[in-house]
Amino acid sequence: MTAVQRTASTKPALRLLSLGAGVQSTTVLLLACEGIIPRFDVALFADTGWEPRAVYANLERLRVHAERAGIPVQRVSAGNIRTDALDPMHRFVSMPLHTLNPDGSRGLARRQCTSEYKITPLKKAARELLGYPHPRRVPSGVFAEQAIGISTDEIGRARDSGVRFIHNIFPLLDLGFDRARCVEYLRERGFGATVKSACIGCPFHGNAGWRWIRDHDPDGWEQAVEFDRAIRHGYPHASKHGQLLRGQYFLHRSCKPLDEVDLDTPARHPQLIPTPATLDEEGAAPPGHAAPALRSANQTPREPPALRHEWEYFHDHRRRAERHLKSEGGRHCHISCFVSDRRACPFRRPGHRRRR
Ligand code: SF4
Repeated sequence: MTAVQRTASTKPALRLLSLGAGVQSTTVLLLACEGIIPRFDVALFADTGWEPRAVYANLERLRVHAERAGIPVQRVSAGNIRTDALDPMHRFVSMPLHTLNPDGSRGLARRQCTSEYKITPLKKAARELLGYPHPRRVPSGVFAEQAIGISTDEIGRARDSGVRFIHNIFPLLDLGFDRARCVEYLRERGFGATVKSACIGCPFHGNAGWRWIRDHDPDGWEQAVEFDRAIRHGYPHASKHGQLLRGQYFLHRSCKPLDEVDLDTPARHPQLIPTPATLDEEGAAPPGHAAPALRSANQTPREPPALRHEWEYFHDHRRRAERHLKSEGGRHCHISCFVSDRRACPFRRPGHRRRR
């Protein structure tokens, strides 16, 4: 990785894209290739090593496409989540597995995999590209701007990076793109086959997601079924070290072996318009035919009223924040934040204080 060292400034030393190679981040990359949003110095793909074949195929296609526009696509990785989880010699990998306790109660194991396999490698790469690899201190005022593909229908996921040297930005929120608009945009540019990016064995898949893997990625399905069996009584590393699980682990939310679940059962309460509740019901939108596929043919609205309200609020909040930053010389991130959990405010920056 070529490092760039810059002096402290209010401008980013680097413009990065966190590329998941799914629908939203692919849209952001194509927007930059077309010059609709500023170009990126590099697009970073954090590879967990266990994505569907279609995601890797899209990544390869994007690499060629982006390089023509002068944006290099680089892969960063902290290892292979599947082989690490099954390796008795490897430190415990914490995936959000569904647990069935001896008393019949259910739960969800702690989730650390996103941080370990996605966020940490991206932060490490950003440091290296800025020219301050760990443990060197990144000087105050030197930072990378990192674009994240979050569309308006998933605004709740917009977060600050948590570190001073990375400022997250959300181009799709700025442009008002929801997932359906992204799908439409990709289709118009010949990227209509872009699928959702997530690990093959992600316990957050719903029936539709599992069904998609079973029907479109037979090797991936076989690996997921094997993985599901292998983790039934805990991760091999934990078992080897005497930390036996009292209950059982499962990939599917029903706490049944994956190959015994009836994935073809229709949703109990089908909804015409996908809402976060629908996605929760199913766990996650299916790869490749996410939100739009769940909509009935004669329904046109793109977002349910609650989401539209949140989106309007977001814009209002942003205008106020920007006005305030200007008048205060950038000392505070915002005047009065109406986001109930202030830590969730996408404009919050480490070091900024709230005005009293
Ligand atoms: S897709 Fe699922 S399993 Fe993979 S890193 Fe994210 S939460 Fe973990």
